[in-house]
Amino acid sequence: MNPSSNITDHFRLTPDQKAALRRLGLLTIRDLLYHFPVRFETAGASGNAAGLVPGVKVTLIGTFHGLKARKLWKSRRNATEGWFEDGTGRVKVMWFNQPYIASYIPENTVAKVTATVGGKDGRVYLTNPEVEIIPPDMAVAVANAGKGLFSDGTAGADASKLFPVYPESRGITSRWFYHAIERVFAARAHTAIPDPIPSDILKKYRLPDLGVAFAYIHTPEKDAHAKAARKRFAFEEILTIQITRALERAENDSFKTFPITDARMRTDEFLGSIPFPPTKAQIRAIDDVIKDFGKPHSMARLLEGDVGSGKTLVAAATSYAAVTARPPDRESGTLQVAYMAPTEILATQHFQSFIEYFSHLPINIGLITGSGCKKFPSKIGKGKATDVSRAQLLKWVEGGEIALLIGTHALIQKSVQFQHLAYVIIDEQHRFATKQRRALARKGGGGARDSDFLSEDCLSPVLRASSAGQKIGVPRAAEYQQFTPTPHFLSMTATPIPRTLALTIYGDLDLSILDELPPGRAKITTRIVKKTDRAQAYESVRAELAKGRQAYVVCPRIEEPDPEKINALQAKSAKAEAKRLQKDVFPEYEVGLLHGAMKPKEKDDVMKQFERNEIQILVATSVVEVGINVPNATAIMIEGAERFGLAQLHQLRGRVMRSAHPPLCFLLPETTGEVSVKRLKALEKSDDGFTLAESDLAARGAGDLRGGHQWGISDIGMEALQNVKLIRAAREEAIRIVQADPGLAHHDALKTRARSVHAELHAE
Ligand code: ADP
Ligand code: MG
Repeated sequence: MNPSSNITDHFRLTPDQKAALRRLGLLTIRDLLYHFPVRFETAGASGNAAGLVPGVKVTLIGTFHGLKARKLWKSRRNATEGWFEDGTGRVKVMWFNQPYIASYIPENTVAKVTATVGGKDGRVYLTNPEVEIIPPDMAVAVANAGKGLFSDGTAGADASKLFPVYPESRGITSRWFYHAIERVFAARAHTAIPDPIPSDILKKYRLPDLGVAFAYIHTPEKDAHAKAARKRFAFEEILTIQITRALERAENDSFKTFPITDARMRTDEFLGSIPFPPTKAQIRAIDDVIKDFGKPHSMARLLEGDVGSGKTLVAAATSYAAVTARPPDRESGTLQVAYMAPTEILATQHFQSFIEYFSHLPINIGLITGSGCKKFPSKIGKGKATDVSRAQLLKWVEGGEIALLIGTHALIQKSVQFQHLAYVIIDEQHRFATKQRRALARKGGGGARDSDFLSEDCLSPVLRASSAGQKIGVPRAAEYQQFTPTPHFLSMTATPIPRTLALTIYGDLDLSILDELPPGRAKITTRIVKKTDRAQAYESVRAELAKGRQAYVVCPRIEEPDPEKINALQAKSAKAEAKRLQKDVFPEYEVGLLHGAMKPKEKDDVMKQFERNEIQILVATSVVEVGINVPNATAIMIEGAERFGLAQLHQLRGRVMRSAHPPLCFLLPETTGEVSVKRLKALEKSDDGFTLAESDLAARGAGDLRGGHQWGISDIGMEALQNVKLIRAAREEAIRIVQADPGLAHHDALKTRARSVHAELHAE
């Protein structure tokens, strides 16, 4: 047995077990080793043999002695009798009508027994106890860990924490994993994997090496071992992610780019031409971008800002600097900008915003979506855009006449070619696969990003160059990139995520944050609605509608392991709610429906109707989160509010924070448990998404941080995000390693691990 051999080659499996392993993505022995217990069973001994009280149910951990089957002469029933002993004493055990049981339980078997104590004080016994035999390896662990367990009887929580419980999956049990791991350990396959963490780092942070950590995490002898192992694997994961980020960053920094000259002068010119002053945060972010424009390599930056914080202005001001700059060595023409949005509606809205920002300036703007193309300015009227054919628009883009192209995924199709693409902006980046981001960046002409970085045997130019002994920053690749500059890249997101998470998943990007809303926004009122106050909340919404405003009703988040089922279930609940509201609550208004199981076209239609106020109340699943900008919508009701994270709730209420009308947010929890209400209260108090994201992270216990998968981070990695020091340390070490050894030539195991993490992160 070796780490890369298939599980199926070493274990006889039922079809159910095979299916379960496949679902869990476990193929090899190595996968099995990296499949960690989520916890260790806590239900352990609840008492000890010396202090048993008749009539009370008890669980003991100890050993069996002298079990014997015999026939009771009076009743002629079969009985098995013997002793169960823990450190404090022993108690008689009896089974009736189970003559075979003695043959199952050899002398000195360690087990956990549960039964209701029979007999009287002084003469107690356990009849027909439930028995869970503790496997031999574990038994040693129990004996060691408990120390006192077999001597003074302090059979505490510690001893009982030692039974691994693995992530659940139909068809396969924790017990199966326990035994499988036991066999892997016996074959010593766990010591055959080279440690990806360099030994000096292990020493520096006092982390157990890989072989030991596998043993600690699957079969800990004490709690401290399990903890040490989890910390080690968390560090390993974060370090590996940071390595891929650091490599990507190094690759990026090797790309030549278009110089964007006099950017400050141009942005100042632009900012002087708009009707309001930028916020301090906007000025800072614009400054960050300008500084990057002045560097020899292309920018890779993330702009994080709450909904309404004015990210578009940052995009517009910096775009202006780009589209008014000349391409190098040219007498005419300008650099070009591509702006990609996740949906058609958003792309169209951004097109409108840019027209407003640029209407007084001589700049050609194009819009390209699945359903058509537009161009601004046009001859048909001031401030208006015209429809143009796709072929025509593409010709203008290729010829450089369209300076700024806005669009959806349609932007990254092969047919779209730019002349001098210098700057790429992506709105809501998490909605885009890294692959697509790269595809778009490539349109600047750079062949460099073609390399499928870190995958297979195709190393990035940086890796190749540096493996050949060259210094980073002057890779050979630069030679062929000389005439194919890579565009600057700005990614914008309103998803408030904790800093540690940002540092990890966006480790290759520099960060600018808009932590200030433009002045004059009406403050949102958020209220937690008690069951009895529901009608009142509806009346408040009705009052808004009477003023001509619109409202969202968001249906509860549905938790269900099967994503396809989620859509179906959500659709069902949203449909039912829409019907109910239309019939019983708001018959006088039009209620619309939006859910994830609808086709894109249907969704677009509904959103358009909502935009035109043909629908006043939009019942939606959490798809509205990224969705739309309808300033006239000023109220939102969120059902099952306790099922959402705080940051997500904040995102949702952001939908009604788009104008100067004082918006209302009603949170309608299903349960009125103190904990959930207390958590929701944070939303009544704070309207800062980042603060809320941090409290989300802090409020969740280990093991209960779901949702890491969308970022390619495991549960153990998510746990680590609560540990700022660990994250920073992993990041620093990764940068140090990549600087010293850019080809990872001396870090073979780490390179292998980085490739697999990279493959996972880019599996979208
Ligand atoms: P988001 O960050 O959500 O993309 P937007 O860029 O859409 O935010 O800006 C939200 C609204 O705020 C827009 O109507 C925009 O015109 C306005 N806005 C942006 N910056 C400022 C500012 N400095 N002062 C006043 N209003 C602003
Ligand atoms: Mg925006």
